[in-house]
Amino acid sequence: PPRDAEELARAVARDGVEFLLVMFVNLYGKPCAKLAPVRTLDQLLSDGLGFAGNAADGLGQSSADPDVVAIPDVTSYVKAPLQDGLGIIQCDLYVEGEPWPYAPRHILRNQLRLLAEQGRQLKVGAEPEYFLVRRAEDGSISVADELDYADSPCYDANAATRAFGHLSTISRSLDELGWENYSNDHEDANGQFEHNFGYADALRTADRVIIFRHLAKMAAHRQGLIATFMPKPFTDLTGSGLHLHVSLWEGETSLFDDTDDPRGLNTSPLGYGFIAGLLDHAPGLMALTCPTVNSYKRLGAGSDTLSRSSWAPGYASYGGNNRTHLVRIPDTGRIEVRCVDGAANPYLAIAGIAAAGADGIARGADPGDPVARDLEAAAVPAGLRPLPPTLLHAVDELVADGVLREGLGKVPDGSYADYYADVKRTEFARYHREVTDWELRRYLQS
Ligand code: GLU
Ligand code: MG
Ligand code: MG
Repeated sequence: PPRDAEELARAVARDGVEFLLVMFVNLYGKPCAKLAPVRTLDQLLSDGLGFAGNAADGLGQSSADPDVVAIPDVTSYVKAPLQDGLGIIQCDLYVEGEPWPYAPRHILRNQLRLLAEQGRQLKVGAEPEYFLVRRAEDGSISVADELDYADSPCYDANAATRAFGHLSTISRSLDELGWENYSNDHEDANGQFEHNFGYADALRTADRVIIFRHLAKMAAHRQGLIATFMPKPFTDLTGSGLHLHVSLWEGETSLFDDTDDPRGLNTSPLGYGFIAGLLDHAPGLMALTCPTVNSYKRLGAGSDTLSRSSWAPGYASYGGNNRTHLVRIPDTGRIEVRCVDGAANPYLAIAGIAAAGADGIARGADPGDPVARDLEAAAVPAGLRPLPPTLLHAVDELVADGVLREGLGKVPDGSYADYYADVKRTEFARYHREVTDWELRRYLQS
């Protein structure tokens, strides 16, 4: 990646880029952007571009407030895949010259700075899952015909071959981006896919998740399809997660790695501290990692609507290489956080994970022994804490969690956690007022 303005200018010239998508995300993780001609690059880098924060939404502004100014981070530049002549650059937000504390990227940067003050770097790998669907005129969705045929679609070689055009387009794009794609698969539900690429510094991976979603949506759009990262688009099919593989480093040394682990999981006391922090703060953290009303329909192992596994956690638990827990330890030196879903704003989710994990480390906490059980099949051991059942429950936990409140930082009117909670409570209330088909079936004639 370019390190300064000069290298950026050379990179855009090399890539034949004529326009830049000048991008940032709002509270919902939605990428917002304006298109700037590359000949304005010097001015763009010094002055940024102004946006009406109220229209961008979820940035703590009303229509009467001054512009939010998006200043590009030159190191985030990529050539847009699938669109010749286009580059994408992520921005940090300022209002009247000051960093804007409602900007999710700013909130993550703050957490990473605290770790850096201790000489530590957080690295993250992301595993985005999504569905390719077709939308009918009546608004209903279905899996694209050509993909909807396998009884047991996970890893189905025929399904992957049928989707070859799409999967290979995404794979080539990931390689063009320099992210080292190494696997693309058909997931557990018809029309559901996942792509895997290299891990990177936490901020870089958060940027990548945003660009990945953009890429998948563009590739689907060209086939007349929708790539949806909605956590649970179909009641009776597995949902879409965004598992995050997290590790903490001091230079070249992985701090989670310990071959003398008496539990046999090659994890250090510091790594266990991080896991304990995640589990202790899980209820409030969920408001960030599972941020929509729909998110809570994906969760819960052994859900009664599923004839097979959902592989999405229902309890604040960890295990070894066991996919029924909130934290899995798949391998030496990293942990997989499985409570994150496709709707998550990656900056806020990772900021929350960093704050929760760092708190566990600071307290020297230990999560106890791993739960060596299949939580989807076996009885749940006494004492395991169930995760919040709805967004509203999770938001109540978030505002009551001092560590996460502090992690999200202060905003002019108080704390970002309270602002976030307000937005999410309104979202929940709007949803809750809708009369659903289920209610008609259940109550109309009862
Ligand atoms: N789709 C599952 C989820 O929602 C995860 C399946 C897997 O382990 O890849 O988290
Ligand atoms: Mg998966
Ligand atoms: Mg995974």
